[in-house]
Amino acid sequence: MARHAKYVEDVATAMSIKFNAYANEMKAAGEDVTVLSAGEAFFDIPLFPFDTLPFPALYHYSNSRGLPGLRQKLAAYYGEHYGVPVDPANELIITTGSKIGLHMSFMALLEPGDEVVVPEPAWVSYSEHARLCHANPVMVPHHVPVAELGEWITPRTRAIVVCSPQNPTGRVYTRDELLHLHALAKANDLYLVADEAYSDFLAGQAYVSCGVDDPEKEHTIICNTMSKNYGMSGWRIGYVISNARVLEQILKISQHLLTCSPTILEQYLERHFDDILAITKPQILEVVKKRAALAEYMDELGLRYMEGSAAFYFFVSIEDSALGSEEFCKRVLTEKKVAIVPGIGYGRSCDGFVRVGVGTESAERIRAALRAIKEVIDATRRPGAEPSAAEPALSGASAASV
Ligand code: PMP
Repeated sequence: MARHAKYVEDVATAMSIKFNAYANEMKAAGEDVTVLSAGEAFFDIPLFPFDTLPFPALYHYSNSRGLPGLRQKLAAYYGEHYGVPVDPANELIITTGSKIGLHMSFMALLEPGDEVVVPEPAWVSYSEHARLCHANPVMVPHHVPVAELGEWITPRTRAIVVCSPQNPTGRVYTRDELLHLHALAKANDLYLVADEAYSDFLAGQAYVSCGVDDPEKEHTIICNTMSKNYGMSGWRIGYVISNARVLEQILKISQHLLTCSPTILEQYLERHFDDILAITKPQILEVVKKRAALAEYMDELGLRYMEGSAAFYFFVSIEDSALGSEEFCKRVLTEKKVAIVPGIGYGRSCDGFVRVGVGTESAERIRAALRAIKEVIDATRRPGAEPSAAEPALSGASAASV
């Protein structure tokens, strides 16, 4: 048989997609599965008319940086809401989702054998993006504080990933932590690759973008998306913000891989940008409030989770169970009909955790699912792990998030 590339064979399947697929198979077979494995929140959004969009331009290739009008809106949003000045002509390009934006950023930065520092728990794709560039992800165990990340930098390091709010914990980096990372980037001539996919999923605190302390974007590449804040993951529209020099490189890659994002969807988003945000913003707030209420419920149940308050995820500890996270999730899925994602997908130091996403199911179903998770922990308790129902919840940093 003809050969294919070994390094691609070695790339891991995205754990979240794998467990979502199991859940979908079960649902297709008629089972009632509570899906806490999804990486998005569902909003109530109307469909605005398509037939008034610019015709026949909507059928054709469009500007490979993205439609100028949509770039202007996204750039203005970063300026007005996060205090990051962005020149829409040279400092922002639109991509088909932020996943490819992140990957193309790595492609622009990494040569074979270079390194990217990736703090765990790490969203499932960063390590594989680096491997697909023939570079090495340097995974930093979750108990290492940001203040010590410098110890993972070598002469081959080209970038540090900063995911805030973090998937899978909902943790938001503090300004001081970001300042420390900027200092590391400057001192070591490397980039911060900031994944800001959940930038609006905060309640009661202003979002601090990684771009705030590097307004010239000398060493910062920001990737963001319309998948989460706008509730439109299926449309595959994301964007990358950085300095003009690095964006020229990313643009070349994009022109060879993507040409442009779907013209008709960009036109629609340009026209209805403000309408959609007016509809999703209150719903985002509801999701974050729901998360806070569920955090209290987990405290009552004695379920512990890593520190975090934003987005719609919890990284729940299963350290009291004797099972590894993949086996644990398979058991929860088959026995309890609840889909969650194994922590091992977020790094080797994270096998004692599972990701629980609360963006798509009702609070009532989620509470039942959390009780089911607790039951499986109790039924598989390791010798010596005492029941934790009476313990105060380890909601966070002490559970060793960075
Ligand atoms: N970054 C993070 C942290 C994510 O959770 C996701 C989606 N799950 C993405 C990037 C990619 O999102 P998209 O490609 O839909 O923009």
